[in-house]
Amino acid sequence: MFFGGAGEIGGPFCAGLRGKNLATLIDCGMEAKREKALRLPDFAAMKEYFEPTHVLNTHGHLDHVGGEAALIRNGIVPRQFYKSVLAREFAPIHGEDTIHITIRNWCQELGITPRQLFEKLNGPRADGEHLPIDWEMLCTQIMSGAAQKILAAEGFIGENCVLPFGFQDLRDLEYLSETVTAGKPFKIGNTLVTPYNVGHIMDALGYLIEVGGKRIFFTGDFSREATGYELVKKLDPGVIGPVDVLVINTTYACQPLEPFKTVSERFRSDLAADMAAGRRVVACGFFVDRGAKVALEIEKADLAEYLHVDGKVRDGLSIYEPHTGKLTGIEKYFVSDKEDNRAQLVRSRIKNGQPAIYLVSSGMGVEGSLSNNYIGEHLHDPNAVIYRLGWCEPGTPLDDLSIAAQNGRVVNWRGQFTKFECGVRSYQFSAHATSAEIAQTIKDFHPKTTLMVHGAPRRLEQFKKENTDLPGEIVIAENGRPYKLF
Ligand SMILES: [Zn+2]
Repeated sequence: MFFGGAGEIGGPFCAGLRGKNLATLIDCGMEAKREKALRLPDFAAMKEYFEPTHVLNTHGHLDHVGGEAALIRNGIVPRQFYKSVLAREFAPIHGEDTIHITIRNWCQELGITPRQLFEKLNGPRADGEHLPIDWEMLCTQIMSGAAQKILAAEGFIGENCVLPFGFQDLRDLEYLSETVTAGKPFKIGNTLVTPYNVGHIMDALGYLIEVGGKRIFFTGDFSREATGYELVKKLDPGVIGPVDVLVINTTYACQPLEPFKTVSERFRSDLAADMAAGRRVVACGFFVDRGAKVALEIEKADLAEYLHVDGKVRDGLSIYEPHTGKLTGIEKYFVSDKEDNRAQLVRSRIKNGQPAIYLVSSGMGVEGSLSNNYIGEHLHDPNAVIYRLGWCEPGTPLDDLSIAAQNGRVVNWRGQFTKFECGVRSYQFSAHATSAEIAQTIKDFHPKTTLMVHGAPRRLEQFKKENTDLPGEIVIAENGRPYKLF
């Protein structure tokens, strides 16, 4: 049964696999949409279906891992969470980020800053110095309802702040986590589980589950072509062999997708031209995976001398660096958080007409992120170009800006309509299999049953119609419906 992520793209992916001696979840994600409450897997349905004893995580993207701490918070406490070394390192960063963003959004609704809220609850320091915000204390005060009580007494009325988990849940999660490695099988009771590389992002895993003489393979998000200079090891069904049941992620079924290789070549030649012309480039990178891939593109294009890395991309690169052997010394390009340093760097380069590449997160330019500041600094610089590096949620500042670039060049920036001078370009650095590769993967695994998940149902119907030569039964899976595999 799927508790989220089937019949939809980006939903909180979560599959439950129940057998005689088996009660396992494959992924437990979270959906974080703008202007919508966080969405978690359907825990109520899960409680009715089974009590999972183990969780197999495929990779560190929020829609596959973000709900794990919330599972614990909701009183569902599996004995073990299995994940790759990188997914495990990213988990606390994602978790704390989720808490920060939820509190920030709530404060925005109430019309105060997180610092004001923190000082309201804990008092300003006697010497007038600013206290650093203790996010854990703030989180605890909100979760206990103490914050709401004090705010209500002062006339701040708003929706309640719903935090999906707290810092203790994140620590419990880490305590229950175990690292697994591609190609190294392990046992859950009598069930043999083997993780395999599946392309997509670095250290992403698919799981082969062998139970009662049957073989089930969960691909997770996957790709067939190697992408990102061997950072990513592609899915090879030949190594895994035929399976009885294939659960396949089908994000780009019947959707056009520019191959990674052509995106990467276009990116490098545009960037070289921009540097030769003395332009400033703000490249909005995601801190999981894409920031690292783009940093490698820049190194490969011999343009690292212009590179400045800022925002959470720095954390991402620091995590990747010891595992890749390819980003050695990348820290020397990090922008330091020292006061005024950043603004001076940016303004002097604009003023003196010097080229620069700012690789900075967030990837969607969301308010409050450093990429939002960098974009803002360059909106009126005709010799600047904003690079969008992948998919952006509709309504995010970078999505608004890319639409406006084709359409009147006026953007609503932080609540003000602004005519902008900078250029905007888009590079879809996808980490997913193309439609043809999805069909080929089903043929290669030759399953008796295929469950297609993580795609738009209408496109999956079309995919079925266009691919009549696929082996076995093809099922477009839905959330909340049990499927009997054998
Ligand atoms: Zn993913």
